[in-house]
Amino acid sequence: MKILALNCGSSSVKYQLYEWNKKKVLAKGAVERIGLVNTFITHSTDHNNHRLEFDCPDHTSAIMLIMKFLLDEEFGVIKELSDIYAVGHRIVHGGERFDRSVLIDSEVIEEIENLSDLAPLHNPPNLAGIYAVKKLLPDVPQVAIFDTAFHQTMPEFAYMYAIPRKWYDRYYVRRYGFHGSSHLYVSRRAAVMLGKPWNECNIVSLHIGNGVSITAIENGLSVDTSMGFTPLEGAIMGTRCGDIDPAVPIFMQQAAGLSADEVNVILNRRSGILGITGKYTDRRDVIRVAGEGDRYCKLALEMEHYHLKKYIGMYYAVLGRIDAVVFTAGVGENSPHAREMSVAGLEHIGIAIDAEKNKNVLSSSGETDLSAPGSEVKIFMIPTNEELVFIEDVVGILNGSYSDPFTYNYTFSN
Ligand code: ADP
Repeated sequence: MKILALNCGSSSVKYQLYEWNKKKVLAKGAVERIGLVNTFITHSTDHNNHRLEFDCPDHTSAIMLIMKFLLDEEFGVIKELSDIYAVGHRIVHGGERFDRSVLIDSEVIEEIENLSDLAPLHNPPNLAGIYAVKKLLPDVPQVAIFDTAFHQTMPEFAYMYAIPRKWYDRYYVRRYGFHGSSHLYVSRRAAVMLGKPWNECNIVSLHIGNGVSITAIENGLSVDTSMGFTPLEGAIMGTRCGDIDPAVPIFMQQAAGLSADEVNVILNRRSGILGITGKYTDRRDVIRVAGEGDRYCKLALEMEHYHLKKYIGMYYAVLGRIDAVVFTAGVGENSPHAREMSVAGLEHIGIAIDAEKNKNVLSSSGETDLSAPGSEVKIFMIPTNEELVFIEDVVGILNGSYSDPFTYNYTFSN
């Protein structure tokens, strides 16, 4: 049973074809720069990697290109398109309507369309992917998996902002949270590492990539998370500012004569690590140049680690007891420095890292326990695998075992 997971962004489509019966990724890759010049696809299987430039003006042509690669005589992995049993789509915003993954029908499409106001950059390309698959594989069931769904268990006092209630009633302004599939995946894996039922585990999970979000997980469920109404809130990120005084954008519009759109672009694309260093978002560059003595690269790293530590402390207070702190995503999996610095000095609350062990642990090391002997709280590095959540949800929905996602027994046994 082959399942295709698709993650359609504004100019890219990432994909993974998974053989459920063998619990194995058959092929994965991405089409990037859709609608721009020099569109290209990268495609990898067990045996080889390919890269090809190909004209792709839109998502339909990008998905057609993916199908062509999956079917290719030389490096393809299926014989005909009907070998694809179902498709799972990552949908960024499910609003309050979707607290779980769902089979896509015309009503679901309409509701995702209605939610586009809340995520104008994300939901439209997600929908373009659904339409493209509908056209190319009309009989194949499609499932929507929402980034926001995992956080729908937050209590009202955590998700409401202290703004006029009318803004919530009329415009749905509240905290939604993102990266839900990643926080779900690593928290379930952490429960396995702890040897406890997932619904008895309290976890602080730190997804640190270009986007950064931290989640407080109580008895397996999200009770608070750092990203908010949009993925702009929270810890400092690659190019996003994270938490700032909400008066700043208004002040800058007035003081520098910037438009609302300009401020929006600056806070989303030219702030964060990039804003402070003036040049870099890739933490490898920031670490290297900081090592050469650059004051602003050092400052950006100090700010990043300080933000992360603050969130760990806040969520420790929220949860009262933590079983594990989990690091994941590009930086969380591959930067020993970020892990060490964001828990430095937390020994007094039972969080102690084994500095030696931490030093050489990368994504390729696989799930690793980094806690010092005697540390009350475990510290884990867990490579995230959002696609596996997509695949398991697709299978669960189609075989009827997923009716309640909060008791759904993920196996994640690839
Ligand atoms: P995205 O949010 O785009 O999915 P990723 O989770 O892939 O991001 O993470 C990308 C980030 O991971 C980049 O900023 C990159 O610098 C960082 N990263 C990858 N490897 C390392 C490393 N060895 N040390 C520090 N940072 C790393």
